[in-house]
Amino acid sequence: MPIYEYACRSCAHKFEKLVRTGDTPACPLCKSLDLERLLSLSTISSDTSRQLSFNRARARAKLVQRDKDAAQADYEKKHRDEGH
Ligand SMILES: [Zn+2]
Repeated sequence: MPIYEYACRSCAHKFEKLVRTGDTPACPLCKSLDLERLLSLSTISSDTSRQLSFNRARARAKLVQRDKDAAQADYEKKHRDEGH
């Protein structure tokens, strides 16, 4: 699927959009259809793989955070128990 960069002629907002054949993109800010296509990035493969690795890294970070939270809760529980 091609991704295009557009500039809105109404508000000058620039944005990238995946456009399916037959789709007419609209400016996300002012909803204008008066857009200028700036350039066509041939594919999104590099973007997609970057996004995927970013997602994986984030998922891993979340997992680590969950382990930390669990360890912290465990520690606090033990600590509380010892306090009594
Ligand atoms: Zn606009």
